[in-house]
Amino acid sequence: MSDCIFCKIVAGELPSNTVFENDEVLAFHDIRPQAPVHVLIIPKRHIPSAHALTAEDAAVLGEIHQAARQIAEQLGVAEQGYRLVTNVGFHGQQTVPHLHYHLLGGRQLQWPPG
Ligand code: IMP
Repeated sequence: MSDCIFCKIVAGELPSNTVFENDEVLAFHDIRPQAPVHVLIIPKRHIPSAHALTAEDAAVLGEIHQAARQIAEQLGVAEQGYRLVTNVGFHGQQTVPHLHYHLLGGRQLQWPPG
């Protein structure tokens, strides 16, 4: 999508601090980190949110979860644990309408979220 900032990052039209990339998935550091480790993992193909997923997206979801495991190991949060979360829509406080999973770690996270 031409006006999607994450599509622009995928296209190389906006910069990002990339931590992982393959044919289907890109991951980069969040520009406003909420934890010592805060990475966004996205499908390269534009999918608006988790609510828009279909059975055809099963493969890319698998890729995202494999990427998350690899990134958590790479950034040293796998042993202590981390959170993998996706916000959906207005009440979910999704601000970028391109599916993304936040990988947060490096400190004790709280539950429930606000
Ligand atoms: P959401 O609020 O769950 O949709 O998450 C969007 C995330 O994207 C926020 O944590 C923002 O800080 C982050 N973000 C927005 N623009 C950029 C960018 O250009 N690079 C990296 N992260 C971004």
